[in-house]
Amino acid sequence: MLKCSECSRDLEEKDALVHTAEDGQRKVICPECFERLTGVDYKTFAYRKENAKQTMFAVLFCLAATAYAWYDKGWMWGVGGIVLTILVYLFSSKTR
Ligand SMILES: [Zn+2]
Repeated sequence: MLKCSECSRDLEEKDALVHTAEDGQRKVICPECFERLTGVDYKTFAYRKENAKQTMFAVLFCLAATAYAWYDKGWMWGVGGIVLTILVYLFSSKTR
């Protein structure tokens, strides 16, 4: 059993969240305190995190395709791939 370091409520391990405070200290807190401290509720936070992960995968995929096109079809394709990668990145971070 864990304890929330903000409100000292007992926490289930699956509900415990780790929050890094401004001084760099890591704290175990409950979702309510997370919301109070960060101003975002945990679901939004998890959604953003998931979204960032997907963006990273999309960008990595584009980079791999770019490297392949560069190698297989020449540098002009590579440059096109880099432009495409940047567009994918910009588009994904905008919808976040
Ligand atoms: Zn709490």
